[in-house]
Amino acid sequence: MITGAIAVMTSGGDSPGMNAAARAVVRTAISEGVRVFGIYNGYKGMLADEIVELNSRSVSDLIQRGGTFLGTARCKEFKTEEGRRKGLDNLQKHGIEGLVIIGGDGSLTGGSLLSKEGGIPIVGLPGTIDNDVWGTDYTIGCDTAANTAVDAINKLRDTASAHRRIMIVEVMGHTSGWLAMTSGIASGAEYIIVPEVKYNIDEICEDIVDSYSKGRRYTIIVVAEGACSGVGLKNVVQDKTKIDTRVSILGHIQRGGSPTLEDRIKASMLGERAALGLISGVSDVIYGFDEGKIVTINLFDSVNNTKPLDPELVRLASVLV
Ligand code: ADP
Repeated sequence: MITGAIAVMTSGGDSPGMNAAARAVVRTAISEGVRVFGIYNGYKGMLADEIVELNSRSVSDLIQRGGTFLGTARCKEFKTEEGRRKGLDNLQKHGIEGLVIIGGDGSLTGGSLLSKEGGIPIVGLPGTIDNDVWGTDYTIGCDTAANTAVDAINKLRDTASAHRRIMIVEVMGHTSGWLAMTSGIASGAEYIIVPEVKYNIDEICEDIVDSYSKGRRYTIIVVAEGACSGVGLKNVVQDKTKIDTRVSILGHIQRGGSPTLEDRIKASMLGERAALGLISGVSDVIYGFDEGKIVTINLFDSVNNTKPLDPELVRLASVLV
């Protein structure tokens, strides 16, 4: 049971909804009578003592904003035991008795080491557009990112159709195909290439040539960055089909923007649960979602396992795409 103070931080790649989650942590802790600190700029800020006490008003006007007001960073020094010791000392200095870490796989791995080495209670929230954290079917920001990708693909289809082009759209996702698979299905892409599913580029190209000979005006190929590079694929496809082929790399645009309703609500629910869990004495867990309900996942299990791509999405794509 924590009665003094907790802290909240965001780390790794930012994702829309991190603000909503941090806001919920802050307001829940305060309503429980527990002080709450914000650690700015991820583990880098933890080591540099960029730790500031927050109040309810510190998180006003935030729920609708993308990015993270706490800032985020990548920190090599934190990967060493000495670095983590420095971080733990700073937490102790402020009387912080527990920590909510909002971030991806790497950040949560870092959190598991803090808990193991320093004994400080840690609660993780999955914050990444990649939706690749084991044990949860949802990560904060994945819905906004997928919607952003769908919107972009819709626009690219218009111009591809006008010119009878093949459009290759490279979407993010790190090593996971979730973002490509969901945005590809939702935008009606003709082909979706993800790292988890084998594909045959010769067959795809033959199929495209055949469809153009029958009057097709456009082809959208959505490719996950973890499967292959969009530029490399463009060269192969153009060469094999002899059809004008363009590539669009959506890149960091997928990280930004105002979070969707789903991301705001789920991030808020997770933030509240994280603060309540931590304050009541829970540690070494991640809170996530499974079929619409909040679930508790062991932190070490989560960071030591790789999340597979939902086979139901793969099956659906094999029927519809
Ligand atoms: P994400 O959390 O989005 O997966 P990263 O993998 O870049 O992003 O991780 C963010 C930060 O978490 C890293 O810069 C590092 O400080 C910390 N981190 C990542 N992996 C580890 C690890 N294996 N051990 C300790 N700290 C780690």
